[in-house]
Amino acid sequence: MEKIFLTRASLPEREEYFKEIKDIWDSHWITSMGPKHQTVEKELQEFLGVKYISLFTNGHTALEAVIQALDLSGEVLTTPFTFISTTHAIVRNGLKPVFCDIKLENFTIATNKLEKLITKDTTAIIPVHTYGHICDVEEIAHIADKYNLKIIYDAAHAFGEKYQEKSVASFGDASIYSFHASKVFNSIEGGCVATNNKNLKNKLDKLRNFGLSHGIAEYIGTNGKMHEFSAAMGLCNLRMLEQVIAKRRLLTNKYNDLLASTPGIQICQPIQEIKSNYSYYPILVTSDDVSCKQLCEYLNNKKIQAVRNFYPITSRHTCYKDNFLSNETPKAIEVSEKILLLPLYETLTINEINWICSCINKVMETEE
Ligand SMILES: *Cc1c(COP(=O)(O)O)cnc(C)c1O
Repeated sequence: MEKIFLTRASLPEREEYFKEIKDIWDSHWITSMGPKHQTVEKELQEFLGVKYISLFTNGHTALEAVIQALDLSGEVLTTPFTFISTTHAIVRNGLKPVFCDIKLENFTIATNKLEKLITKDTTAIIPVHTYGHICDVEEIAHIADKYNLKIIYDAAHAFGEKYQEKSVASFGDASIYSFHASKVFNSIEGGCVATNNKNLKNKLDKLRNFGLSHGIAEYIGTNGKMHEFSAAMGLCNLRMLEQVIAKRRLLTNKYNDLLASTPGIQICQPIQEIKSNYSYYPILVTSDDVSCKQLCEYLNNKKIQAVRNFYPITSRHTCYKDNFLSNETPKAIEVSEKILLLPLYETLTINEINWICSCINKVMETEE
């Protein structure tokens, strides 16, 4: 077998992309809110079912900008079981992340632990829809209301998902998405903020362009403009998205069938009330005999790129570990030590899944 990668970027037919970028040569308009940018912003706004989209160079810049735009101060409640970007965006805005533990069932923030962490300095909650599992949005809204906190969802894993028929983009004050090559929908690099708040949208549009308004800097902005070649890739990939998700769903079901009775691992249960995007396939290695690390190494030796994810949790990375007490989030630590992501992308084959699962079953069954 050839090496099986964890993920492979979705790409349209080459001819389709070439056709899409042809007008860029004709116009020489290659960046700075050109026609492709305007079109993809509009299409995303419709697709995500939200009033406003502000496109950015990537998801991280979008998150930094929306935190700045909401004028937060003091402390922000968040999860340490996420990509380092979430924590960095808070700290780079001069705010203090306060880490709340997660739920074992779906790895999202444990809402029953939030209130205890609120102080007079708390101004916002930044939860993450981890692996496309949707946070307890009702309870988070309730707590935010009670304590007058802003909510920004890191929805980098939840592109196109719906919860109880409602677009995930409609929760909180804003949601950020990432269109990085590794995500379910990509514009090579890219991202956006989705919001129903017009003032927020206007401010974000200025922040991504150095804070400029008619040539004068109104805010201390950044350079977060998406260029036309990325926007064109976004337009092409958006056309294929439903097909991509359907294929991922098929593959996810195959994994579920083959791993349902494997001893020593736990698969995720289908998510209730959610129209899922099937962006990741995480398993928990719960065996006493085979550790997550051992299973990962075994698969890697078979040229299968399984990856330990969000390990360590963000509060234990080198730049944070001396500043935060990570022992206060024991479930996040436990999950980070046990979780393994298996390969998933639309061109992965059923044969390859058969092979991956036979390797996993071999190790787990002989060791139990
Ligand atoms: C990918 C990702 C980001 C960052 O997005 P980029 O587009 O890579 O900057 C932020 N948060 C989470 C949870 C992510 O997975």
